[in-house]
Amino acid sequence: MDLVIYFLLFILAFVGMEFVAWVTHKYVMHGWLWSLHKDHHTGSNHTLEHNDWFSFIFAMPSFIFIFFGFMFQIYSIVAIGFGMTAYGVAYFVVHDIFIHQRIKLFRNVDNNYLRVLRRAHKLHHKHLQKEEGESYGFLFVNKKYYDMDKNSLLDSK
Ligand SMILES: [Zn+2]
Ligand SMILES: [Zn+2]
Repeated sequence: MDLVIYFLLFILAFVGMEFVAWVTHKYVMHGWLWSLHKDHHTGSNHTLEHNDWFSFIFAMPSFIFIFFGFMFQIYSIVAIGFGMTAYGVAYFVVHDIFIHQRIKLFRNVDNNYLRVLRRAHKLHHKHLQKEEGESYGFLFVNKKYYDMDKNSLLDSK
């Protein structure tokens, strides 16, 4: 029984992180910490971007959850910590590798969802300023980008 609850908490934390990522991206990264996020939009000639600090910042709470969860043997907290970590890993694989090709992998993956997700994120990158962007979320893609994708597929026929 416990396992089911841990699993649900894991999923909940994973999904919840999408919301956290959206809020943080829109109001913090494009807000008072724009100085760290800016080079992810305007490009930098370094292998590491200032933006990578956010990976550390985001990793901290999940580490704390897992660490203290094990220490006090409260495994529901551990499950939440792993859900957050899994989101971070998914974010890195999809955002940094698949979309931005920081490691040349999965270049030819063609899947409806991933193609639409990449387009939505590329449109986010079109905006070079702090304000007036779009598509701050990540793994959850707004329906309008699916429609856009459908239309461009029809156009190319
Ligand atoms: Zn951004
Ligand atoms: Zn990006």
